[in-house]
Amino acid sequence: MAYDLLVKNGRIIDGSGRPAYHGDVGVADGKIVELGRLGGPARQVIEADGHVVAPGFVDNHCHYDAQVLWDPLCSYSCNHGSTTVIIGNCSLALAPVKPAMREKLAGMLSYVEAIPMDVLQAGVPWTWETYPEYMQTIGQRLGVNVGTLIGHSAVRLYAMGAECSDRDATPAELAEMQRVVREAMEAGALGLSITRNMNHFDVTGKRIPAACAPESELFALADVLRDLGTGVLQCGGGTNPELKDKLLSRLAQACGRQIMYNTLQEQARQPGKWREHLVHVEDAARQGIRAVPLVNPGSVVNRFTMKNCQVFRSLPTWLPILQGSDEDKLRAYGDPATRAKLRAEVEAPLTPDSTFSKRWDLMIVAEPQTAANRELAGQSIAQIAERQGKNPVDVFLDLAVDEALGTVFSLGEINSDTDAVAQMLGSPYAVVGLTDGGAHVQFHSNVGNPTRLLGYWVREKKIMTLEHAVRRLTFDSASAFGIYDRGLLQPGMAADLVVFDPDAVQPGKEDVVHDFPNDGWRIRELAEGIHYTVVNGEVLLEKGTHTGNLPGRVLRNARYRS
Ligand SMILES: [Zn+2]
Repeated sequence: MAYDLLVKNGRIIDGSGRPAYHGDVGVADGKIVELGRLGGPARQVIEADGHVVAPGFVDNHCHYDAQVLWDPLCSYSCNHGSTTVIIGNCSLALAPVKPAMREKLAGMLSYVEAIPMDVLQAGVPWTWETYPEYMQTIGQRLGVNVGTLIGHSAVRLYAMGAECSDRDATPAELAEMQRVVREAMEAGALGLSITRNMNHFDVTGKRIPAACAPESELFALADVLRDLGTGVLQCGGGTNPELKDKLLSRLAQACGRQIMYNTLQEQARQPGKWREHLVHVEDAARQGIRAVPLVNPGSVVNRFTMKNCQVFRSLPTWLPILQGSDEDKLRAYGDPATRAKLRAEVEAPLTPDSTFSKRWDLMIVAEPQTAANRELAGQSIAQIAERQGKNPVDVFLDLAVDEALGTVFSLGEINSDTDAVAQMLGSPYAVVGLTDGGAHVQFHSNVGNPTRLLGYWVREKKIMTLEHAVRRLTFDSASAFGIYDRGLLQPGMAADLVVFDPDAVQPGKEDVVHDFPNDGWRIRELAEGIHYTVVNGEVLLEKGTHTGNLPGRVLRNARYRS
């Protein structure tokens, strides 16, 4: 057999969760032909050198809808081994759109997902009106595979115009929304994205249109998927409505399609809520309902000083001080009577509105400002308080006052409990993902989630086997989103591959790069230990460097493909 590509001497992890074995992967015409010890000539040989060969990862929650138009690689997901990205999440998309509404639609993506508006104005060519035209446009030049969801906010704006956040739709407008959703699904969109995140606003301060839609509208749009018998639903901000009155379970049952939503996570300020959520999801699954949360292998860490701190804003004495001038802050934090009140409020029991968990072991002195305090770097407030025999609030505020509010602290209150994260990431009732690739580009990057799972959670913390982790990043995600020809190494499957060193794989350090349109800047997060990213049988990245190949394509739903 003559292969186009032969990956030799790999430790093959096929995405099913079955044990790794040593062998080769033969590829022809963009598909996997055979696995095992393979001979025969090949146009190109990759020496895997004993490193893992796995299916390419599926980055299932991204916002590259604009970026893909100037960056066909959708960097930096592919650097972390992702060969497929899914865009159009959380109701946000760039199609369909009428010419007069382009700015308004771009404004939603810009404001909600924190992508600078001048970047979108310079980088989005707006050569489409309909959703199929948008799919065709992005498909002309792709490095990775892109699956698309049609976004409810775009649909509502298209049908209702400027009043899309102000009122319910008329029957004619609702019929128009159903028509454009059907048009997108018939063109191969993977599904429909909606949102119940009530904190998502556009530039004018109005809620984005999808968040304003009544529940009946969500059911009417889900009916389109039921009638076509294809596609997934995706819901931003779904946890609260699901736990409150099972909105997502009801939607999934009504349309017979799977719904994926944000987010199953452990939060220090709501101890135990993740467990309640997981039990809820298991109950639903036992009844055969497919309402599945995404779980994120990242830990969100905020860095702040007491000049810009928001951590204590739920506490009544703290709030006005946090909002005051730096001089007022220094005076208040140094005043013994005020200090006593501040202490008492932190020590009071947590409420559902608490913005701080009281977990001083998670509050780290990241960057002390003075030479005298240098040795505190990396220590938690709890550690320092214990050593000094002081109250943590006093340690914290004394340090801030001593350094004229300049001390940089870091606080990681999300996914900081290893046992909780192990149970969530390992649960078959949740899907691993949610990098938010392409979003909040100037704040922080989560595109390293796959390499974080493999490096930190698997190699260092040993919360699951490598085979299980690979399955979480590949087959579980691909099948959940209706991508049935990827996510496994098997003959006939698309040849999306990643070759990585399990002893070295991890996210790199974040830095800043100026490579967006209009000289825009963004945070870059590269990876270590990813040797090759192969898309549809062609090498996209070799040791993190683009080969120049553009083998990606728009992925389409099963109904379209058949
Ligand atoms: Zn999102």
